[in-house]
Amino acid sequence: MRMVILGAPGAGKGTQARLISESQGIPQIATGDILRQAVREGTPLGREAQVYMDRGELVPDSVMIGLIRERLSCEDCANGFILDGFPRTLEQAKALNALLSDLGKPLTHVFDVEVPREELLKRLTGRRVCRQCSASFHLEFNPPRQEGVCDHCGGELFQRADDNAQTVGKRLDVYGEQTKPLTAFYRELGVLTTIDGTRDIGEVRKEFADLLGAVSTKQG
Ligand code: ADP
Ligand code: ADP
Ligand code: ZN
Repeated sequence: MRMVILGAPGAGKGTQARLISESQGIPQIATGDILRQAVREGTPLGREAQVYMDRGELVPDSVMIGLIRERLSCEDCANGFILDGFPRTLEQAKALNALLSDLGKPLTHVFDVEVPREELLKRLTGRRVCRQCSASFHLEFNPPRQEGVCDHCGGELFQRADDNAQTVGKRLDVYGEQTKPLTAFYRELGVLTTIDGTRDIGEVRKEFADLLGAVSTKQG
């Protein structure tokens, strides 16, 4: 299963990718998490990326494509992967296709999780993320069992620097301009499935499980 989950910031990509990763036993590759870790560690990648991330803009394609090429060549991707947050531009999508077709391992699923802007704003401003394992929670829609503490690993929850009202608006605009066009690209390739992301986490999870179950049975 080689999968891309598309969707605006706050659509629930990370939440669902984590659940699918657990149930299917394939890695979740979240480019935002990789970049935030690089920023924390102060690596050259982190120093370059931080400027863009703070402004709510996209990190340059050349940087992101290099990063994904390296990550997909890791051993743990041999049996599949879930891309969460990549690709975000047409150039990234084309580079990904080229990379995977060289390996003879094209994408098997592309999902587009759709949620209207008003709802995205509420999700992003109430989001809290685990410092240790990057799990997402929400103050209202998906609160942790204990306030400020991750259910999965006990790590501390924090609010991302870019989840403030101003940067969120910018990120949603950037999504509309640069990433939304990818749905047409993948629709033409015949691999796109649209998911109604407005329902609660359990219902969206069930739809993913049904779709993946159906497809993997068909493929044997
Ligand atoms: P993305 O990775 O697409 O940016 P997240 O998975 O981090 O999105 O989810 C954004 C926020 O919305 C988080 O606070 C998360 O807990 C919450 N959330 C995720 N899915 C849903 C849902 N179906 N309904 C309500 N809130 C959700
Ligand atoms: P969200 O969960 O809100 O969709 P991410 O955590 O995926 O956000 O990404 C946070 C930031 O990291 C983005 O605003 C962007 O600056 C950078 N980023 C992540 N993935 C990519 C990518 N594929 N291309 C360019 N920039 C990216
Ligand atoms: Zn955690």
